[in-house]
Amino acid sequence: MQHYQHLIDGSWIEPASGAYFDSEEPFSGKAWARIGRGTEADVDRAVRAAHAAFTSGPWSRMTATERGARLRALADLLEANAERIGLIEQRDNGKLITEVAGQARGAAQWFHYYAGLADKVQGQVVPMPKPGVLNMVKYEPLGVVAAITPWNSPLSLTTWKVAPALAAGNTVVIKPSEFTSASILEFAALCEAAGIPPGVVNVVTGFGAEVGAPLVGHPLVAKVAFTGGDIAGQKVYEAAAADFKKVTLELGGKSPNIVFDDADLDQAVKGAIAGIFGATGQTCMAGSRLLLQDTIHDSFVERLVETVARARIGDPSDPETQIGPIATRPQFEKILSYIEIAKAEGARLVHGGHALSGEGYGQGQFVAPTIFTEVTNGMRIAQEEVFGPVLSVLRFHDEDEAVAIANDVNFGLAAGIWTRDLERALTVSDRVKAGTVWVNNYRATSFATPFGGYKRSGIGREGGTEAIKEYLQPKSIWITPRPNRANPFVLG
Ligand code: NAD
Repeated sequence: MQHYQHLIDGSWIEPASGAYFDSEEPFSGKAWARIGRGTEADVDRAVRAAHAAFTSGPWSRMTATERGARLRALADLLEANAERIGLIEQRDNGKLITEVAGQARGAAQWFHYYAGLADKVQGQVVPMPKPGVLNMVKYEPLGVVAAITPWNSPLSLTTWKVAPALAAGNTVVIKPSEFTSASILEFAALCEAAGIPPGVVNVVTGFGAEVGAPLVGHPLVAKVAFTGGDIAGQKVYEAAAADFKKVTLELGGKSPNIVFDDADLDQAVKGAIAGIFGATGQTCMAGSRLLLQDTIHDSFVERLVETVARARIGDPSDPETQIGPIATRPQFEKILSYIEIAKAEGARLVHGGHALSGEGYGQGQFVAPTIFTEVTNGMRIAQEEVFGPVLSVLRFHDEDEAVAIANDVNFGLAAGIWTRDLERALTVSDRVKAGTVWVNNYRATSFATPFGGYKRSGIGREGGTEAIKEYLQPKSIWITPRPNRANPFVLG
């Protein structure tokens, strides 16, 4: 068993309570790591360390160029450790080894990108309506950032917050998911090795109520960057509002993947499958609603079922595996309950719809890739996030109906459009209420472009040059050569 403590102010610290909890492998069901069970006392210690590092520590005295250099060193270390960290994530959340190692290498790219941006945040001199007045706008870091992340892509989603936060000059306290703490502690160790000073990156592990809530409520936290479900996201938003903390929230989705009859159907079938069964459906951007034009509906469903029936399901450490286990027991049970809900609502089960156990399925925490047709938009299976390998297929007649169905949900994270008609691609991308639209592809992401949601999918964006502003605030400075005696109150 591996043994993990909190990382606070550059030291590995025993939890104040002395308590630990186990992290289990979803495939085998075996506990493999002991994780410190944090409480408010640990949170307070970590936030105070981060605050001291921000206000008076070496991080605040470092130039932006030097900060960038340390982040570049971290990126190199992440690249060198990608396989090792990928393996840890695979043990913790059961994702395919190919995907998690790729995500760790992707995290390195994010750090390279924001390292480059660190010393390119420029203020401005603002033209004034009165001569002799200089107005400058500068961008300042916020202070201590709380980064709270889920279990499905632990390192990636932590990186999306920590890379811009550090590049901007903030310090961070990370609260990883209670199901996937280990890779984040390994990441924090690499931060130290890269020369990021003690107190700049702190990690307190534990549960939402015991660590997440006191972290959000801590008076020295300036901003909360949260990824998780919309229910917890709403609690975080309300708690942060109590003392006007800034927030970014990356929440759930019920994303439409819309296939028109003029699409390249071979590619669209692959895109529909990758959209919902990639990461075993446990991804915020899952294309969980497949909208099919009525003219191709039946033949498309037939091809979909044929292809899904050939999927290699099993051990996530085997590079040949295409669909792995469900990451947690509560999630496994939630998915099975949604399958029952869909059946009771009258959706037609055309594939899967059950758990998988026996040889090759480890402890049996698997759900067969599941496809429901005859889903209508009023059904819960069309409206609520399942976060598992369950696809709802809906029919539409024309573009207007496709857009109406696509937008008739409380979420707005992403959407896919499959068509060969460029005009239609552009019109429908404009009309769909989603933060990301993929045309003839699905699930592409990059450090270079913003990601985030409309409606209950969240607030703010991660990625791209603009995202660094989520961790900065403008300060307007007015300078007059002499005190303005004529009217001390109005300059303009
Ligand atoms: P979750 O909301 O249960 O937990 C997320 C994190 O918040 C965990 O670390 C948890 O301990 C913590 N937490 C829970 N309650 C809290 C509270 N009251 N105060 C502070 N922290 C609290 O989500 P999950 O089950 O870990 O992850 C799955 C969810 O994450 C899905 O809904 C998925 O859509 C969403 N997600 C969104 C994105 C995105 O970028 N939009 C990406 C991945 C996952």
